Amino acid sequence: MRQKILILLGSVVLVFLIVIPWKQTATPPTPKRPMVAASLFPAYDLVRSVAGDALEVRLILPPGASPHTFEPSPKKAEELIHAKVAFVIGEGLDDWIRHVLPEAARVVPLSKGISLLAPHELAVRGVSEDTDDPMDPHYWLDPQNAIKMVGLIQSELATEFPEQTAAFEKNAAKKVASIQAADEEAVRLLASVPSRSLITFHDAWYYFAKHFDLTIAASFEPTAGREPTPQYLEELGATTKKVGIRTIFDEAQSSNAAILSFADDNGLQILTLDDIGGVSPSDSYENLILSNARTISKNR
Ligand SMILES: [Zn+2]
Repeated sequence: MRQKILILLGSVVLVFLIVIPWKQTATPPTPKRPMVAASLFPAYDLVRSVAGDALEVRLILPPGASPHTFEPSPKKAEELIHAKVAFVIGEGLDDWIRHVLPEAARVVPLSKGISLLAPHELAVRGVSEDTDDPMDPHYWLDPQNAIKMVGLIQSELATEFPEQTAAFEKNAAKKVASIQAADEEAVRLLASVPSRSLITFHDAWYYFAKHFDLTIAASFEPTAGREPTPQYLEELGATTKKVGIRTIFDEAQSSNAAILSFADDNGLQILTLDDIGGVSPSDSYENLILSNARTISKNR
């Protein structure tokens, strides 16, 4: 009995020893290296490549989540409390970043210097491009835009951490050469694709299509994150027959039962694209471009 009481007392003391200090250090300690953040994996991969070992780079959108429907938790804000700079895509895609960044963090939209396309929906309705409506935010899917993003990341990081300027320059040059090589490889992969006309899951692929000389015949979801109406799907079915489409692309982040039954009804094969990446085989920006090019090369 005495032994049991001693064990019990010991356990209570142990719990206090473990729990109390943990509670007192609830705010994450200042990291050894300066912290920067990036909203989406493609931006994160470019930033970590340019930063090298000099900085701690944090990714905000977890791999597998869709930026169109993401709601960050308060825990995210805690993790990012020491972030000095945050690289974002902008154009309304990752506005949720404002809920997780400390006020002092500088936000850098990576769209600077990139010629943006009007969102497909607006382009179809004939809305002029000079309104305040956001432009199509999926510009990273054109590798030449990614090369511009690397240049911007390099100059922004050098402004913030001038003592690392030479390292950032060297790392950026290496990344640009690697993206250029992936771009050329993707062109080769897509040279003999049986059909250059695609039906994608959502309107993410216009920059990719434009760069690689493909055509987007339609998207399964005309508005990202919202299920298509039965009437829309009927029209889409008619389009697949008219254009002679035999493949539909769903997405790693957003597959659902509706696209499966649509594909079944219309005799289409389903292939999966990933516009964000972050997991194998899209575990780097270059692999994101290459794995999608490989998948699209099977479009028939
Ligand atoms: Zn999207």
